[in-house]
Amino acid sequence: MEVQYVKGIGPPGAKVLAKLGIASLEDLLLYLPRRYEDRSNFRTIASVRAGEFVTLKGRLVAVESKAPRGNFTITRAGISDGSGTIGLVWFNQRWIRPRLSKITGEIIVYGQVKEGQWGYEINSPEWEPLAPEADGEEFARIVPVYPLVEGVPQKTIRRFVERGLAYVDKIEDVIPPGIARKSGLRPLAWSLQHVHRPTSLEEAETAKRRLVFEEFFSLQLALGMRHAEEGTRSGIAFRVGPELASEVEAAASVVLTGAQRRVIEEIYRDMGRPHPMNRLLQGDVGSGKTLVAAAAILAAARSGYQAALMAPTEILAEQHYVNLHRLFEALGLKVALLVGKQGKRERDNANKAVATGEAHVAVGTHALVQEAVTFHKLGLVVVDEQHKFGVLQRAALRRKGFGNPDVLVMTATPIPRSLTLTVYGDLDLSVIDEMPPGRRPIRTHWKLPSERDSVYEGVRKLLSEGAQAYVVCPLVSESEKVLAQAATELYDRLKHGALEGFRVGLLHGQQKAAEKEATMLAFRNKELDVLVSTTVIEVGVDVPNAKVMIIEDANRYGLAQLHQLRGRVGRGGAQSYCVLIGAATNPETEERLRVMVETTDGFKIAEKDLEIRGPGEMFGTRQHGAFEFRVADVLRHGRILEEARQAALDLVAADPKLEKPEHAGLKARVETDSARLVRTDIT
Ligand code: ADP
Ligand code: MG
Repeated sequence: MEVQYVKGIGPPGAKVLAKLGIASLEDLLLYLPRRYEDRSNFRTIASVRAGEFVTLKGRLVAVESKAPRGNFTITRAGISDGSGTIGLVWFNQRWIRPRLSKITGEIIVYGQVKEGQWGYEINSPEWEPLAPEADGEEFARIVPVYPLVEGVPQKTIRRFVERGLAYVDKIEDVIPPGIARKSGLRPLAWSLQHVHRPTSLEEAETAKRRLVFEEFFSLQLALGMRHAEEGTRSGIAFRVGPELASEVEAAASVVLTGAQRRVIEEIYRDMGRPHPMNRLLQGDVGSGKTLVAAAAILAAARSGYQAALMAPTEILAEQHYVNLHRLFEALGLKVALLVGKQGKRERDNANKAVATGEAHVAVGTHALVQEAVTFHKLGLVVVDEQHKFGVLQRAALRRKGFGNPDVLVMTATPIPRSLTLTVYGDLDLSVIDEMPPGRRPIRTHWKLPSERDSVYEGVRKLLSEGAQAYVVCPLVSESEKVLAQAATELYDRLKHGALEGFRVGLLHGQQKAAEKEATMLAFRNKELDVLVSTTVIEVGVDVPNAKVMIIEDANRYGLAQLHQLRGRVGRGGAQSYCVLIGAATNPETEERLRVMVETTDGFKIAEKDLEIRGPGEMFGTRQHGAFEFRVADVLRHGRILEEARQAALDLVAADPKLEKPEHAGLKARVETDSARLVRTDIT
């Protein structure tokens, strides 16, 4: 039902509500108060103290208006209740005075008490005349305070919501009674009424909980149904076994950590089943996800299938290519590289190797999902650093698969569980919660730009001892071109200045793939001492001998990026260093830099990041749809989310497709939410 049909709102009211993004009755009723003002207790004027929010009742004693300067007017009045008198003050509201003058009886006011020039006063109180015989209950209640936009007064919204509440029964209550009972939820109509017109704050809380629950529940149902459906689709049952993991271990000449072994087991269990795997692999920067992916890839190859590994940047794809190539050579697997900026011949060769099945593994960027790329027999899709991709690209790559390929999504962004459940709620979760042995925490320092000389003095010392260093240039712009220029300038300056005499290389996004590859290789082979770079090295670059990370103008970077950048060092056993050079331009910046100095724990950093930026920002607009909750807040309502998820999973287990007649309304709701998930995918 559109709001314009609500009695008392009509087309003119609908126009006003449109400013708040409200079109339907449902929109209106789910436009929840930001907070409440408890006006339910009248106070005597004599008892009030500065700072308190109070509701008072009394007679006006004096009303006057002054215009000390041009347009500026002050209206003052006093109100007296027998116990005392308090001042009321309004600024620039000329219309107040004539209205106040008309009042003959008592008046009710609500507002915060301040210490004024002549004793206590209330600035811009809410007020209304008390009708004769009325006791003021209508005003002196718990009043909702709505989020506002310019041009829509609080009183107007309150009135419209009131009108809307008359139609509350028109909104279908889709939560099955059994679940409502079990989860302690009040009916929808009750909840809507009491979230807007509570008689106590506890009641408002109960009402809101129900609405939040419903929102989470519906999304979790959509995710759970998607997961259940995947689980029944037919997929490939790969031959798996611990000896495959041991082969990878031997080829890499490392001992897998307990966590790596455990997650490989989880992955193998999925891969061995005749249904598609949909698993998320979470592990902090440097936790060794690549070897886990390699173990999965090896299993696919040994079962006669191909694997694809998709990375978000060319540098990272190239890096994976180099690593896997080295690792798999001994195991007899051939790896092909597919990236955007390849030469035609190179590209044609790679395409051919993938199409004929000569290549067991294709590593690449989103170039992998282009039409020209066809696989011989793609059985496993691995997506690295998934949140950089739209889920749509994941799906596109999967469609190139042989039947329903297995999918493994890897992410280095450790995120709080409530977010994982929301963004990746349709995936099974594996977590690497252990770092390879011998890692030492990176020592991190924050230096001001004025201390730069001494920083580079330290760098020179470490370089002369055989260390290698990255210098990341300031994030001066979103534009790759501008960044490339900035990196080039920094490179020139350092090469001929602070780092003169050392072998300095340059890496940025505008370079040709071959050039980047050559530079990376030179750095890896210790033919370069220093790599000056833009954030193209942000993800995945792995040179264990690099011990020093200098980030110029670190104040311009977000926490997640700083953590990723810092993760490029500290990969060998030696003590590594990270220096953040930057001014504390504002409290938020200072907070970020301090967090970086205090901890290297990706999980803590992610939580802090979330606190500072909020989930929408953190994941970029791509994933934003998943956070467009109307009433729920992923961070604040984590407990309700867990309950709603459990209820949703129980329901999916009992009625996987919501086919029972009593779930029809719910099913329709979930379909709407699924559409939202799809929208999330598209960017
Ligand atoms: P990430 O999880 O960030 O992708 P990588 O897979 O790049 O991490 O691994 C980081 C570094 O740790 C690499 O140099 C890798 O060879 C090394 N590594 C991985 N697993 C182990 C292990 N079990 N023991 C020792 N080093 C390991
Ligand atoms: Mg990685």
